[in-house]
Amino acid sequence: MCLTCSRTSSLVNGSPTREFDLRSGLRQGDLLSLFLFLIIMEGFNLDIKKAVELNIIKGASVGGDNINISHLLYADDAVIVSEWNQEEMVNIIRIFNIFFLASGLKINISKSNVYGINVSDEEMAGMVSHSGCCSGSFPFTYLGIPLGSNMNLIANWKPLIDKFKKRLSFWQARMLSYGGRLTLIKSVLGSIDKFVDGNWKWIWNRDCIGGRNEEYLANLVNLLPNIQFTDEHDGYSWAIDNSNEYSVFSTRNFIDNQILITDNIKTRWVKELPIKINIPLWRIARDRLPNRVNLHQRGIVLQRNDCPVCNSEAETLNHLFFFCELAQDLWRKIRLWCDSNIPNFSNWNDWISWYDNWVGLNTSKCRAYCIVAAYFWIMWRFRNGVVFQDEVLNKGDLFDLIRSTSYFCYFNRSRYKINYNNWLLKPL
Ligand SMILES: [Zn+2]
Repeated sequence: MCLTCSRTSSLVNGSPTREFDLRSGLRQGDLLSLFLFLIIMEGFNLDIKKAVELNIIKGASVGGDNINISHLLYADDAVIVSEWNQEEMVNIIRIFNIFFLASGLKINISKSNVYGINVSDEEMAGMVSHSGCCSGSFPFTYLGIPLGSNMNLIANWKPLIDKFKKRLSFWQARMLSYGGRLTLIKSVLGSIDKFVDGNWKWIWNRDCIGGRNEEYLANLVNLLPNIQFTDEHDGYSWAIDNSNEYSVFSTRNFIDNQILITDNIKTRWVKELPIKINIPLWRIARDRLPNRVNLHQRGIVLQRNDCPVCNSEAETLNHLFFFCELAQDLWRKIRLWCDSNIPNFSNWNDWISWYDNWVGLNTSKCRAYCIVAAYFWIMWRFRNGVVFQDEVLNKGDLFDLIRSTSYFCYFNRSRYKINYNNWLLKPL
C-alpha cells in the first residue's frame, strides 16, 4: 500500500514514454492508516496465538468450557493475560520486541501497567522492577467499563454513569427539540447495552417540576405496577382489537368511534336522483352544508355571515331553504303547481316527517321527492352562483329549472314514463 512497487510508462501519440516509478505513501491522519493498523495488529494477534500454542505463555482459562484467553485487543488498547511468573513476563516482552522489529510499532513498556490477581505487594514490586512496567491496581477501566470490582455495588457503577452524563451534557440536550432528545437518549442508552448486560431498575434522575409533568409522572407510576415482566421476547400487541393483532379495519373503527358523530338520521339514497343531488340532500338533512353560519362555527373567518340571497338575515340552513324571501316564493310556486294541500315547512325534519306520513301512490310520492330535491339543489346552486360569482342563475328561471330538473331525473331514472306537458300540468 505504501510501497514503491513497480514501474510503468504511458503511451503518448502511440509511442511509449520513459518508464517512471509508481509510489504511494501514508501521512499521519490518513484514513487509510486505520486499515493498515488493523492489518498489522492482526500480525500481533497471530504472534500471541502462536506463543500460546508453543506454551511460551499460558493465558487463562475461563468459564465452564475452559476457554483460553490470552489477549484482548480493541483498537490500540491491548490486554495480555497470563500466569504470574517472571519467565512468562520475559516472554511477553520478547514478543513485543519481535513485533517491533517486524512492524516498526514499538510498545512503550514504561507506559504499560501490570495487574496481579491474588498477588502480594512484594511480588508486585518484584515484577514491576523486573519488567519495567508500572504497577496497576483493580478496578481499572477497559473500554469504559470498570474491571475487577464488585458490580453489585452502586458506587462501582458511578464512573459509567458519570461517563454517560458527560455525554448527555456534551450534546447540550436542553438545546435539542423533543425529537432530538429522544434520539439522543436512545443512542446513549443503546450504546450502554453494547457493553453492559444486567438487571435494570428505574431511577428518576431529574426532579419532577409540577404542572403537566406531575400529571404525566402520576399516570406513569399508576401504570407501572400493572406491568408484568416475563421471560418471553418483547413484542407488540394491538390492544384495540380482541385478536391483539393489528388490522386496518379495527383502526378505522376505533377512529370512527372517537371522532364521528353518531346520529339516528336515516340516510336516504333515492335512486331516481343522481349522486350530485343525493349528496347535497344528505348534507342538508344533517345541517352540514358549508353555508356562512356553519363555516363560522367551524372557525373559518368570513367577512360576513348574512344570507347572500336577501342580505337581511344570518345564513342558516333553515333561513336559506325555508324562510328566505326567494325560498318562500319558490315553495309557494311548487305548492300551486303540485298540490295546494302541501303545508308550510320550517325545516328539513318538518318536510321529511310530512312526506313519510303522507299517504299517496308510490309514483306520486316518488315524483314529490324528486321535485323537492330539485328545489334544494337549484336553490343551493343559485346561492353558490351569487357567492362565487361564477354561474349566476337568473332568479326568474329558478322555478322552471326545478320543473325541468325534476322531470329529467324522474323520466330518465324511474321505470314510469310521463311526457313533459303532463308533468307541467299535473306532476303528482
Ligand atoms: Zn335570505
